Amino acid sequence: MTDSAQNSPPQTAPTATSLTETERKRTEQKKAVPNGVEHRSSVLTSYDPRTSELLGDYAMMGADEVTRTIREAKSAQKWWAGLGSSGRKRWLLDWKKAIAKRAVDLVEVVVQETGKPHDDAWLEVMLAVEHLDWAAKNAGKVLDRHKVRSGLVALNQASSVGYEPLGVVGVIGPWNYPVYTPMGSIAYALAAGNAVVFKPSELTPGTGTWLAETWRTLAPNQPVFQVVTGDADTGAALCRSRVDKVSFTGSAATARKVLAICAESLTPAVIEGGGKDAMIVGGDAKLDAAAEAAVFGGMGNAGQTCVGVERVYVVETVFDDFVALVETKARKLKPGADRGAAYGPMTREAQVEVVRDHVRDALDKGGTAVVGGLDSIREPYIQPIVLVDVPEDSIAVTEETFGPVLVINRVRDLSEAIARANATSFALGASVFTQDTRTGQWVAERLRAGVVTINSVLGFAGVAALPFGGVGDSGFGRIHGADGLREFSRVKSIARQKRRAPLHLLTMDRKARHLRVSKWVFKTRHTR
Ligand code: NAD
Repeated sequence: MTDSAQNSPPQTAPTATSLTETERKRTEQKKAVPNGVEHRSSVLTSYDPRTSELLGDYAMMGADEVTRTIREAKSAQKWWAGLGSSGRKRWLLDWKKAIAKRAVDLVEVVVQETGKPHDDAWLEVMLAVEHLDWAAKNAGKVLDRHKVRSGLVALNQASSVGYEPLGVVGVIGPWNYPVYTPMGSIAYALAAGNAVVFKPSELTPGTGTWLAETWRTLAPNQPVFQVVTGDADTGAALCRSRVDKVSFTGSAATARKVLAICAESLTPAVIEGGGKDAMIVGGDAKLDAAAEAAVFGGMGNAGQTCVGVERVYVVETVFDDFVALVETKARKLKPGADRGAAYGPMTREAQVEVVRDHVRDALDKGGTAVVGGLDSIREPYIQPIVLVDVPEDSIAVTEETFGPVLVINRVRDLSEAIARANATSFALGASVFTQDTRTGQWVAERLRAGVVTINSVLGFAGVAALPFGGVGDSGFGRIHGADGLREFSRVKSIARQKRRAPLHLLTMDRKARHLRVSKWVFKTRHTR
């Protein structure tokens, strides 16, 4: 069943022809084919996905430019590491201020390159700045050398742990949150004493360039943070450039390619992959709040959120009431290019086909559309689509849709909800709605995910102290929080002998009496 009210195109929506035009321009610029030989353009052009308007030209950087940038970064990193955590904190807080003061400009670049509404871009920029602030202020506490207890058998040792910078970190970013997402690596890697070379998505080179420019204005002679613009080949060149670590955010398919390249030089990598996040709604949940969160998590940013809600499992006793509430809320949403729009266009045109395939598969396999349907997909905008009772083997349930589509399925109880939520190869975020604190905790502990929210969605995004990352196809490694700082560090342990041990065992001249006493101590401590 489709909803005819949802099928009228937004007034501000560009036509399908203009979308094809953008697609054509992007394809042409990417690969010109003179004499049948594929040739890479030297220019990367960015377009406004709402209007196909050309926004700016950037360099399509190749291996030589990437190598040169890394060389500069390596030398600047020595200065940066030498500042220590307190010196770096001052610079990073200055950088934070520079970004915050000109946030209105950054928001404008994000809006133009992604098409998302201004309010959403503001939210993204504000959260990114919070992370930069936290990383700057906490790096010393987390990473500076600190004592650890040596324990009874090594009382003669003074032991300490410290975290050293890795060197140069290559950050490869996506387009959906072009500031917040990469900042989760950039801020933490910089605070840990590394230089960073950032390769923004080919759809958002202006955003990455804007960030690098603010750093350059602040420290023109210290290229500690630089950007390399370009496409997949530029990203691959960055992985090959002998950086000390790659922090990749993007799809699982690209992550596999990134890891294959990194394997050639044993370059370590953090992978922040895609998601297929589930929300679980218990029988005692506040249904209105849960429905509001499902609609926000599923439709916000046109569903182009790695930790957005893609699946909802609702206990059958409240299923119909919950679906009715979601229906009412979803029908009110109007995507478009105007300031009042609920969300913007699909930023990446190719994703429209993915969404279409998922919706078609769900309907073909017996699912029901209670809001929208295939007719809601009118490039570059997709009206909200809510599907119910979708078979669990449909690709709308198993694969990342990355569009404004919610799948709502009924379950007998919370145990079944957990089993279904855990059944995909992705495991990034998840959420549960229940009024019972212990039940919420019980569910959260059983969900296979890197982060779980109870009675909210995306509630963790502004908590900089919480580590973030996934499991399975959603990746590995952690950004944000203390773990995020350590991710971009190399731990070094030091044991300083203060005096000779009374029981001196670490010698070729070991005394039999010392070993006898040690065995007695051992048995006394560990066998009782
Ligand atoms: P993508 O995988 O297409 O591209 C990501 C980045 O990788 C881009 O900068 C791209 O140029 C680069 N790239 C492409 N091929 C490469 C190669 N062979 N070697 C090196 N770099 C290469 O992803 P996308 O479409 O930009 O972003 C959407 C995806 O990102 C979704 O799956 C989404 O869930 C995921 N995402 C994850 C998080 C997270 O924190 N886990 C956050 C945001 C987005």
